[in-house]
Formats: sequence, structure tokens, C-alpha cells
Amino acid sequence: MPVVRCPDCDAVIELPPGTRSGDLVECPNCAGHALRVREDAGRWVATLAHQVSCPNCDKLLTLPEDAKPGDTVECCGRSYRLTFEYGAFAAEEA
Ligand SMILES: [Zn+2]
Ligand SMILES: [Zn+2]
Repeated sequence: MPVVRCPDCDAVIELPPGTRSGDLVECPNCAGHALRVREDAGRWVATLAHQVSCPNCDKLLTLPEDAKPGDTVECCGRSYRLTFEYGAFAAEEA
């Protein structure tokens, strides 16, 4: 069973069968982000995939790898501005 280490808390996470490069998996210990996994020469590595909840509907939105504060995300037909505080992204009404 391939495993990755969570870059945030260092937990070892088993990848479910059928996991492919670029898939998202959850760390059981960490809220506020998922892990984007990638196979590299037979080894699996994980990077943080930050998530924010929509201020309007609470849906969890996964941010692209290059997301940064000030970017906008869209949900519910509106745009929200990303902020980054205390190690986590949040979305607020633009
Ligand atoms: Zn973790
Ligand atoms: Zn929404």
C-alpha cells in the first residue's frame, strides 16, 4: 500500500487503491486543507492543498496550488477574496 507523509503534521497516510497523481486525500489530523498527492519515480509525495469554506453556503472549496492572499474564488455566483492568517486561508466577501 503506497503511503505519503502529511507535510503539516507528519502523519503517515495510506493511499486508497486507485489513487492517481494529482488526486486529493484527507489527512485525519488536519482540518483546513487536503493533501494533493503526486507520484514521483515510484515514490508518493504530498503537498498541502488549502481549502476554504464558502462564506455563503459553507461548501468546501479546494484552492489551486498557486493560490495566494488577494486572489478571488467563486461560489454561489459571487466572488470572494482570499485572506491568509494563522497558517490558513479564509474567504471573505469581496
Ligand atoms: Zn496532517
Ligand atoms: Zn457557496
